[in-house]
Amino acid sequence: MLELYKKRKLLDNILPAYDDPLFSILIIVLLILIVAVSSYIMGSFKEERKDKSLKRFLNRFNTKECLLEIEEMPFDPTLTKPLSLLAFAFKNQGEYQKAISLNLYLIENISDFHKKKEILEQLGQTYLKAGFLKRAESIFLQILHKQVRNKEALYHLGIVYELLHEYDKALETLQPLKILGEKTENLKAHLELNRLLTDKKLNSSQKVEELKQLLVDDRYEYRRIMKALFQLNLSSAWENIQPSKIHSILDILWFLPTSNLNFDIISADETLSAIFLAKGVLPLDQNSIVKSDIFAIDTIISAKKGGNQKVDLNFTYGCNKCKQHFPIAFTRCPQCYAIDAIQIKETVAKKRKQTGYSLL
Ligand SMILES: [Zn+2]
Repeated sequence: MLELYKKRKLLDNILPAYDDPLFSILIIVLLILIVAVSSYIMGSFKEERKDKSLKRFLNRFNTKECLLEIEEMPFDPTLTKPLSLLAFAFKNQGEYQKAISLNLYLIENISDFHKKKEILEQLGQTYLKAGFLKRAESIFLQILHKQVRNKEALYHLGIVYELLHEYDKALETLQPLKILGEKTENLKAHLELNRLLTDKKLNSSQKVEELKQLLVDDRYEYRRIMKALFQLNLSSAWENIQPSKIHSILDILWFLPTSNLNFDIISADETLSAIFLAKGVLPLDQNSIVKSDIFAIDTIISAKKGGNQKVDLNFTYGCNKCKQHFPIAFTRCPQCYAIDAIQIKETVAKKRKQTGYSLL
């Protein structure tokens, strides 16, 4: 008892009002203040460390082959807009090294992260265009490290993983995009189809079965499924030709070797008959009226009926989003990275020597 009394006396001397309720409130307020101040200090410390790590990270990409002599140029904030526009123009012209140098210069000199973020996105996209996929991946991961909800970085990171054939990682970028309100259904189908087509654990017949099931779902691109079916199993491919979608596989059909044709199915469909009449595989009857509703095919048939046998089809491929044209087919537009955007453009041309190559 005496001991307890002594202790109490001692506490009274040190903290005269420790049993006062107001004193407890004061202690709580003090504790809150301490926590707030320490978390603020920790936060600033973390920010500073992130900034340093970003600089260290970007130093890895500084190459000595810089084509623009900007390293020594004194920086002025008013230069940010014109230089970033210039970098953008260089990127679009395919002058990637110059675009990269300008972006690195701007990132080094801009301190505000929100302005720097836009340049980092540009840099990542330039690396992606230039084919430096691992560098592009690092840049987008760095952006996401600082700003998890960055849609641009997530979207482009998905493209990088797709080009690296890392489809599971690409699919992982869709969940946060979906949470951020983006429509990801078609992108998911596109990536799942990529994964299925390159899956080494499945044999041909398993792939054919899975592909046939996807034909009923419009999110999976018909052209890609049919191209794979023509490679894997000819009878499945022919059985699954949908008359309304023939135009989207016209080039694949046109370049098929004669030995791969199914004449029962071709002769049962007017459009298919017209295509192979135009190709010269089926004999042309002067009196027959065959129409395909594909202008170039009907033109060739008319020309052949008129005695001109030296006509052929040429194919180019357009993107219905950016309207660019390419000489070879694509699954993702090489210019704007749109999916399901390919448009087959066929034109009548003079027949050259038979090359006999197939698209498959
Ligand atoms: Zn495009």
